[in-house]
Amino acid sequence: MDRDNRRFCLDLTEEEILKWCLDNGFPKFRAGQISKWLNSGVTDTSRMTNIPAAMRQKLEEDFLFSDMKIIDEFISKIDDTRKLVYLLPDGNIIETVIMRYKTGLSICISSQAGCKMGCSFCASAKAGFGRSLTAGEMVAQVLMAQDHIGEKIRTVVVMGIGEPFDNYDNLMGFIKIMNNPDGINMGARHITVSTCGLVPKIREFTKEKLQVNLAISLHAPNDELRRELMPVASAYSIAELMDACREYVNKTGRRITFEYSLFNEVNDTFACAEQLSKLLKGLNCHVNLIAANEFPGGIYKRCTPKRVEAFRKALESKGINATLRREMGSDIMAACGQLRRGIEERKGEV
Ligand code: SF4
Repeated sequence: MDRDNRRFCLDLTEEEILKWCLDNGFPKFRAGQISKWLNSGVTDTSRMTNIPAAMRQKLEEDFLFSDMKIIDEFISKIDDTRKLVYLLPDGNIIETVIMRYKTGLSICISSQAGCKMGCSFCASAKAGFGRSLTAGEMVAQVLMAQDHIGEKIRTVVVMGIGEPFDNYDNLMGFIKIMNNPDGINMGARHITVSTCGLVPKIREFTKEKLQVNLAISLHAPNDELRRELMPVASAYSIAELMDACREYVNKTGRRITFEYSLFNEVNDTFACAEQLSKLLKGLNCHVNLIAANEFPGGIYKRCTPKRVEAFRKALESKGINATLRREMGSDIMAACGQLRRGIEERKGEV
């Protein structure tokens, strides 16, 4: 995506880089060198020290290289979570979060600049919708973060700003690039995609037969409450959503995750826990409970630890696997539902 029809370097396939080399009279081995730099997250041609200057200049003329940049970084004092702010080639701004777990680093990337889904509890929805990201811009968030912090990232969750299934083709492109055994080679099981519940796309995703993990942002156990929290619930009922989830589990043999953010005295009641356990009974699934995070201008209050634990226990007593997700980066507005497209608040700064 760009302002002058040049494509972003990380959207290029290895075949396209090779073709470009041959078309422009550069030797074949240069394609491998360029791919290696790109796969290391280096998108600034001045750092591609084994590439001749004339070739670097030609690359810059034909493609967008250093036009995507990390322009800000916030580091949590609580848990070392980092939020990186990226400027995209066309001026849009997105956020990405890196979390440190015992098992290694995990990154939560954005799939769109803004989001059309309008969930009432989400800061990402408030700044409106800019555009969908290209596959390369999603890959860049991972690779540039790795290069920036100098550590390998082990797992990726597509759970930041945007609805990944509203950008389906680019999401598939992203997974393909990440999985490429001759390139980045990240295993599909190290990638999780989260959707607010676009039923036709869940069915399409099921047909892909990927080993990628699927998470559904559920947040309510009945249609009435879900419609209040998530406009997407007006398009697809919980019954339709659960049908698609069951089909996913049956056809892929994989467990599905449900994300359930708890809002104080909204969806955290005992009755909600009862309804939720009935809904999920018998399904190979796991529930991630999230003590919802507040943000300036947000309308919901954070659930108390006592209510969170009571909800978890109520699910557990009905045989539903549920854990409270460890909260990370809340002091830097990096926790779930707190990421923003950012362009509004930073107008004039870039
Ligand atoms: S919760 Fe997800 S789908 Fe809903 S508005 Fe926020 S980013 Fe979009």
